[in-house]
Amino acid sequence: MTKASDSAAPRRSPFPPWLRKRVPTGGEARRVRDLLAELRLETVCSGAHCPNLPECFARGTATFMILGGTCTRSCRFCAVPDDPPGPLRDDEPGAVAEAAARLGLRHVVVTSVTRDDLADGGAGHFARTIRAIRQRLPKAVVEVLVPDFEGREADVETVCAAGPDIFNHNVETVPRLYPAVRPQADYRRSLDVLAHALRFAAGRDRPRFTKSGLMVGLGETHDEVRAVLADLRGAGCGIVTIGQYLAPSPAHVPVARFVEPEEFAAWEAEARAMGFAAVAAGPFVRSSYHADRVYEQCTGDVTA
Ligand code: SF4
Repeated sequence: MTKASDSAAPRRSPFPPWLRKRVPTGGEARRVRDLLAELRLETVCSGAHCPNLPECFARGTATFMILGGTCTRSCRFCAVPDDPPGPLRDDEPGAVAEAAARLGLRHVVVTSVTRDDLADGGAGHFARTIRAIRQRLPKAVVEVLVPDFEGREADVETVCAAGPDIFNHNVETVPRLYPAVRPQADYRRSLDVLAHALRFAAGRDRPRFTKSGLMVGLGETHDEVRAVLADLRGAGCGIVTIGQYLAPSPAHVPVARFVEPEEFAAWEAEARAMGFAAVAAGPFVRSSYHADRVYEQCTGDVTA
């Protein structure tokens, strides 16, 4: 039987104090939600249960997720459903551009589910989306966060040829944890994707930077994180993000550890010392979190 005093007791948060966030109300959130619904667009913000959604929507920003709302892989950290994929929407590139224009975005981030069922992995659809945004918002910074295209260099080139300013592909975790966290991915292949995007960019205007990110709190060691940062620099990666892993549900891989803000600050300093042009590290950092401000740190060129 529940005592009256028990039911009145405040619920204890499972999170440490630095992961308790005030949820902003108002702002642009309603407008963002209505626009996404009107244009039938997916976002990784809701698809991945991102903890920053209330804040980002209130700021009038979102990260568009193209190629459908279901994924052909089943990464154990990710909330996006791995149901069978549906057909592509031919009008999706235009709808993303329309939404970005109506939101007045100056920095547009587009990501996708992984579509291993498509011959080009969706690279052509990415390229059409980049071009549609460029046409509608010629001055906007365009950032794409792409899957690994199973390592096909031609697909990486299709995306890069459309001229995104930033080509982002996340390594997500340290190689030892891939079988448990990203069983269908391959760490070396992800590094090769980044390296190839940079090779393709040589002598061209864009992409200006490659970018990658990883989560901590999955059971990795400090030396392993350090080695990943070194590998990313070795692949020419210019921008890196490091954030706390949070399990989307009890069915996902559990959180091994909550990393303290001071440790994130140390990672940020270390990554800067390693030569990254821009670094974001913190408990709530995600690839696209304040992506505009992260990009503003960059002053060098693609080989920075
Ligand atoms: S951090 Fe990125 S994915 Fe999360 S809500 Fe903000 S824009 Fe969306």
